[in-house]
Amino acid sequence: MFAKLFEQELALELELEADQGIDWSDARCRDGAATMVGLFFSEQIDDIARAKAICGLCPLAEPCFQGALERREPWGVWGGHLFANGKVLAQKRKRGRPPKNPQVQEPLTA
Ligand code: SF4
Repeated sequence: MFAKLFEQELALELELEADQGIDWSDARCRDGAATMVGLFFSEQIDDIARAKAICGLCPLAEPCFQGALERREPWGVWGGHLFANGKVLAQKRKRGRPPKNPQVQEPLTA
């Protein structure tokens, strides 16, 4: 289901951006078989990090992110940003309640 939606979104992006001279064939997530859909719409923190890393090497990250904002994408990683419930999240929290007594990270020393 997500694969079809992702392909439709990308096709729409291609159509919309063609007039602006953006060549989406350089998109790092575009492999023609939608094999990365699971990463870009995953709930798993490590998958999301991998999707963001892929976007980090994509030459189209900025127009991708701007397009997602304009289309009000509800979910997924677009342009290196995570969208959830239509909002851009700085990072995804782990499931469940935060610990009552969070562990304090010791600063690194040389
Ligand atoms: S920025 Fe990420 S989601 Fe957007 S086209 Fe590039 S790889 Fe795909």
